[in-house]
Amino acid sequence: MAPSYGTPVTDVAQTTAADPEIRYRETTPASRALHERAVKVMPGGTTRTTTYLDPYPLYIERGEGCRVWDVDGTERIDMLGNYTAMILGHSHPKVVEAIRAQAARGTGFAAANPAEVQLATILCERVPSVDAVRFCNSGTEATMFAMRLARAFVGRPKIARMEGGYHGTHDHAEVSTHPVVAEAGPADAPVARPDSIGTPRWALEQTVVLPFNNAEAAEQILREESSNVAAVIMEPIIGAGGVIAATPEFVQRMRGITNELGMLLIFDEVISMRVAPGGAQQMYGVTPDLTTMGKIIGGGLPVAAFGGRADVMEHLDPRREGSIAQGGTYNGNPLGMAAGVAAMTELTPDVYDDLNRKGARVCEQLAEVFASHDVPVQVNGAGSLFALHFTDQPVVDYRSMAAADKKKTRDLFLGLVNHGVLMAPRAMGALSTPMGEDEIQEFVDAVDTVVGELKPRWDAR
Ligand code: PMP
Repeated sequence: MAPSYGTPVTDVAQTTAADPEIRYRETTPASRALHERAVKVMPGGTTRTTTYLDPYPLYIERGEGCRVWDVDGTERIDMLGNYTAMILGHSHPKVVEAIRAQAARGTGFAAANPAEVQLATILCERVPSVDAVRFCNSGTEATMFAMRLARAFVGRPKIARMEGGYHGTHDHAEVSTHPVVAEAGPADAPVARPDSIGTPRWALEQTVVLPFNNAEAAEQILREESSNVAAVIMEPIIGAGGVIAATPEFVQRMRGITNELGMLLIFDEVISMRVAPGGAQQMYGVTPDLTTMGKIIGGGLPVAAFGGRADVMEHLDPRREGSIAQGGTYNGNPLGMAAGVAAMTELTPDVYDDLNRKGARVCEQLAEVFASHDVPVQVNGAGSLFALHFTDQPVVDYRSMAAADKKKTRDLFLGLVNHGVLMAPRAMGALSTPMGEDEIQEFVDAVDTVVGELKPRWDAR
């Protein structure tokens, strides 16, 4: 039975082992009180499904470096950094200064501004596929425009995407990101499933779903749909769907088949931009036609972008007859552009190398911890990203990810919150530059403690 608020607890360690939610409720009274107010004015008491957590969300008041403080004043190490966006940690002095200076000069004009030219230049210089770029405010918009641009350029109606990939929340993106496996067709021929009530039927009809990391099957599906498909959109490293890197062979074959069939290849690098200065495409040595970006490029502010081949991006040129209009009150907003320039300037190639080295080390340490407790887990890592999956089978695509034990994931997440660590509820994490060896050890030790506490509960199931 779920405990009521304020259930007296006599033996904290033992009860926590029984259910980490009990200690969560005991130690977060201010979040609970805020949530009681919040539910009256927002569905579920939050404005972002991904920050909701059961029994109620944690309300964070401030962050500095790799630490955050909740409204009860509890400090935690932030192993997620706003879902991978805060690569420099919170309140980085250079970013804060850039925002402050721009805020004093004005926060938005009905005109172009110099900072957008600066940030666009940085992205075009660093990202191999990007000859030209346009800014927007979220990854959702970036993928929506990239898909529209591909349909306009190629003149075909459908978009192919990977089962289990994530491209935001617009209608065309909300297809087969996390389908119920029993309803999603065979693994090598997945059917398009809606992720949300309200996803229009046309979105399903105009989407071709491909099995990730299965080049043979994906190619066959694309050949069958070759006259209908404008583009293949894929994350070279699936991020939100569990940090699953494409094999180099899969990426190369997707490049080859899209070229052969006259489709565009879109890399959604909203998350994977953090693995190298030029994103995952630089790491794989495979250049797509279009790239979508977000998260780190705005220094923590709501900035995203899509860019690519000059002859494709040209279709957005207002000087052109019949160009694609891309309005947006906040596109290229000077505050976001200034923060983005400051952040990207800090991100030198050495910084990525250092973060990636630490990322690889964290994965090794986590694997050792779980092995020492005899708990089967897959530690999926890529650059400074990692995710834990409770299964003894390698997680290489959506189906293998979906087979993992999600109850353990939730226990681990809440257990870590109780022990001073904030990760994603789906046990995904991302490193930030303020994390040194000590902070990483602190995280690994917390995982060790929590797994030790939870093991009896898991064994009893
Ligand atoms: N694409 C990818 C790969 C993402 O991970 C996300 C967000 N996690 C998006 C698109 C959507 O970005 P946003 O949340 O900024 O709309």
